[in-house]
Order: sequence, then structure tokens, then C-alpha cells
Amino acid sequence: MHHTHRGIVGAHPCGRPGRGHFFRSPERISCLLVDSHAHIDTSRFNADREDVISTAFKAGITCIIDPGCDLDSSRFALTLAKTHPGTIFAGVGTHPHDATTYSNEVGAHCREMAQEPEVVAIGEFGLDYFRMLSPRDVQRSVFCAHLQLARDCDLPCIIHVRDSHDDVIELLHAHGQGLRGVFHCFSGNVAQAEECLAFEGFMLSFAGPLTRQGNALPEVARMAPLDRILVETDSPYLVPQPVRAKRNEPLFVKHVAEKLAEIKDMNFEEIAQVTTMNAVRLFNLDAFPSFQRHSKAERGESIQ
Ligand SMILES: [Zn+2]
Repeated sequence: MHHTHRGIVGAHPCGRPGRGHFFRSPERISCLLVDSHAHIDTSRFNADREDVISTAFKAGITCIIDPGCDLDSSRFALTLAKTHPGTIFAGVGTHPHDATTYSNEVGAHCREMAQEPEVVAIGEFGLDYFRMLSPRDVQRSVFCAHLQLARDCDLPCIIHVRDSHDDVIELLHAHGQGLRGVFHCFSGNVAQAEECLAFEGFMLSFAGPLTRQGNALPEVARMAPLDRILVETDSPYLVPQPVRAKRNEPLFVKHVAEKLAEIKDMNFEEIAQVTTMNAVRLFNLDAFPSFQRHSKAERGESIQ
């Protein structure tokens, strides 16, 4: 397969302006990108969180979604969203690693936080049978509680799946009909991707593993419809290639988008635009007044 290196990574990030209305200034990337999953609330950003955020925004990342992993991190994600209106948004939920910390009371707090306009998703939640830090039956019942929360709050789900594909699909069939959301950091094969995409309201999100060898993700990315894909970093985890840093950060989402563009044989600008439009649509970011104000002119026309 041949491909020209048309992306933004390298010595001249804006060497090729692409569509004129995305091009802003030489130090910015030539289009907008959404990091649909970054845990910037975690302590690994305590020393330089605001720098990391402003570096990403200055480079053209238009928006970051920070999914909470337990009650405290959901609260902090919401605080970050409130202090960066229209650019950071929050999810509220309990990660499967922390499923034993979930209770009806935690659920009630999440429900309350979900009323805030900055909360755009329920999650992250899911099933993780790889590390199995919470017992399987606890994970399953907490998973179902989050589906109910998403339904009650009319919000999309951010779902974590690790060595648990069959159970996730089973529980979604049983309790998730009509819900929407994203399989974050999708890591399965083509057959599993097809099962996920059979849920019409759901998208697949690609992260750092897409840039690495030895998985089925290029095949998955090739078959995934353009209107069903997102990009993310899952910061501070999963540093994409060719970054050498030990800690991932939202800025690096551009490397995931560039790899996706290469696989789909599209311009970087086109991939940035479709994934941004998909994130706006899934998380209803348009509904947030300052998001609309600062982004409408820059987003341009839909190419769907
Ligand atoms: Zn995550």
C-alpha cells in the first residue's frame, strides 16, 4: 500500500494548509480535533495540568472530554469542565476497576451531576476481565446501573471493554436497546467491531494502539463507517507512536488521527473534520452555548 505523508506531524506542522477555513496560523494545526477521552483530572497532571490543557488548545485541539472513573474523579472532571467552559466536558461514572466503590448513593450523586450542562456522558464504565480488580458479578451489576443512568439522563455511554466483549454485548442487548455511546479505545477484531456497530447509536473510538503493530485495528479502522469513528488519547495512558514521552496528553491525539487518515487513505483534515463532527453529534456539544460560539465558524460545512 502506498501512502503519502500528508499529516501534520513533522517539521512543518502546517506546511499544507488544506481547506482554507480550517487554516488559522502557522503554529496551529490546520484543523480542529477533539480528544474524546482524556483523564486530565488524574494526579499525573497535578504539576502542570493547565500547561497541558493550554498546549493542546493552542495546537488546535478544540475540545477534551474527561470521563470520571469514580465519584471523586467525576467531580473533579466536572470542576475542570466548569473552569474551561466550552472546551472541556465531563463524563460521570465508575470505572470497572473501581466497581466496588459504586453504590446507589454514588449513582444518585452522578445523576445529580449529570444535570449540569458540562456533563455530556455517563462513563467511563464497563467490564474489565483482564485486570479483574472488581469481581465479575459486581462489574456486571454496576455496568447495568450505568446503562440505566444513561437512559434516565438521556446521555451517551462511554464504555470500557477489556477481555469482556461477549459480556458487554450480552448486557447491551438485554439492557441497552436505544442507548447511544462509544466503545472507547476499541481493541477488538473486525467481527467484534461489527457486533459493536450493530448498536446503531454507538461509535468506535481509536487511541494509541492504532499506531502500534500487531493488532487488528487497521482492519477495523478500514471497515468502520466514517460517521461512526472517534479519536482519543486515553491520557495519561497509551502513548501513541512516535511519541517518546512516558505520559500521554491530549496534544498527542493528532498522532492517532494521522494514523487513521493514513489507514483510510484520506487527508488529515478530512479525518479531523469527520471525527470532530461525530464527537459534536454524539456528545451534543452544540447544545453548549460557548462551544457553539467559538467553533461554529471554524467547523465549516459537514462533508457527510
Ligand atoms: Zn479511560
